[in-house]
Amino acid sequence: MSWEYSPAPESRAIVDLRPSYGLFIGGEFVDPIDGDAFKTINPASEEVLAEVSMAGPKDIDRAVAAARRAYDEVWAPMRPADRSKYLFRIARLIQERSRELAVLESLDNGKPIRESRDVDVPLAAAHFFYYAGWADKLEHAGFGPHPRPVGVAGQVIPWNFPLLMAAWKLAPALAAGNTCVLKPAETTPLSALLLAEIFEQAALPPGVVNIITGAGETGAGLVAHPGVDKVAFTGSTEVGKAIQRAIAGTNKRLTLELGGKAANVVFEDAPVSQAIEGIVNGIFFNQGHVCCAGSRLLVQESIAETVVEKLKDRLATLRLGDPLDKNTDIGAINSPEQLDKIRQLSAIGESEGAERWSPPCTLPERGYWFPPTVFTGVSQAHRIAREEIFGPVLSVLTFRTPEEAVKKANNTTYGLSAGVWTEKGSRILWMAKELRAGVVWANTYNRFDPSSPFGGYRESGFGREGGRHGLEAYLDV
Ligand code: NDP
Repeated sequence: MSWEYSPAPESRAIVDLRPSYGLFIGGEFVDPIDGDAFKTINPASEEVLAEVSMAGPKDIDRAVAAARRAYDEVWAPMRPADRSKYLFRIARLIQERSRELAVLESLDNGKPIRESRDVDVPLAAAHFFYYAGWADKLEHAGFGPHPRPVGVAGQVIPWNFPLLMAAWKLAPALAAGNTCVLKPAETTPLSALLLAEIFEQAALPPGVVNIITGAGETGAGLVAHPGVDKVAFTGSTEVGKAIQRAIAGTNKRLTLELGGKAANVVFEDAPVSQAIEGIVNGIFFNQGHVCCAGSRLLVQESIAETVVEKLKDRLATLRLGDPLDKNTDIGAINSPEQLDKIRQLSAIGESEGAERWSPPCTLPERGYWFPPTVFTGVSQAHRIAREEIFGPVLSVLTFRTPEEAVKKANNTTYGLSAGVWTEKGSRILWMAKELRAGVVWANTYNRFDPSSPFGGYRESGFGREGGRHGLEAYLDV
């Protein structure tokens, strides 16, 4: 049964949105040299939130030059314990301004405030805390006695976790003594710009972090810039491959965190109610805009009917709507382009013969919305079982034996994550060994911790972020 709730919206008054934003270069907000700008909108209402600068080639030059100067003159020579102090300060300021960051993230991205408040923002702070602790202990990190920073890092991030991805990129780079130029996604630039204000507040030396907003060309210009020593990218496999081609033959270091099509495998001995929560969290968290989303449910045939039935009951209780409402479970789709992609792939699922189901739910009239959707009768050959949909769409497949589960789970070009639900510890260990995925969750899903490395195999990319491993990409070892 679904309860009637009164709306409980978080106030947006806490966010002081400026009508327009410059680029954050050399420790201050500056106008772009050629003066171009674009608008960022609230995907839940289509309201324009602010105008944001479009960085062109000359701005990229300026940002990279500022980062180089800060690297040579301030950040690399600085005592590591002093670098720690800045990172601790940033972490504490993220905590202090957490409500503001959460509201802004939900406004610009469309994700429920419950998630930005309880997941994105605390994890972003935790990343800075964690890497602050490493900054003065690098010689004990297992990368040799004298690890050195790489230089200037060019970092390009996507729109699904804008603040958290900025933290994943910046915190280890800074702890290791590098300086950064960060390019947030075009549809979600605002939390990175608020982070720039936090850097000012923390008195981070000018040029240590530069934030340049813009579109794909800005990202392409940044990664190809000859002044960049290390490129870190999170986003689509297609763009990841383009970046690989663009920097081939240079001395640039590269890490790529790309797409996924994770299997969430439920055995017949699994605690079913717990597994249902894990399935829901696996694919409907953040509207399914998650590279490690458990978008392929593999359920043992003997319990498939029960699981699907219980799953549908649970989905009927999810609330879709205003991202700022604290009761909301499913927010808005981030952009019309992404909504089109989800619609198209879902239509293909139906035309290929899978059975589509969504709970009764009214979609708001304005904004970009897609109901939680489950496809049953899906086979390995279906496109919805192979391609990343990056939306609230689950494909259900079945298996009979553990060997078949492993074969089906590994039958993908990706290899980022997987989930296993079973009561048998030995089976968990066996599955973790057999599954070709960078992260395997057991009896849980979508759990993140700054101390735990994250990254993929094959078309999901290479390199690890988080943990001690996450330092390696930013150190000359
Ligand atoms: P993209 O890979 O295009 O975007 C990721 C980031 O790269 C953005 O900042 C983007 O800028 C930038 N970018 C775009 N083109 C280039 C380029 N040639 N060189 C350097 N940087 C570039 O992802 P999309 O937003 O287009 O999403 C498409 C699909 O990618 C999604 O449907 C999903 O399947 C997948 N995806 C996977 C993510 C993951 O976490 N693994 C995250 C996001 C998407 P801009 O925003 O201005 O285009």
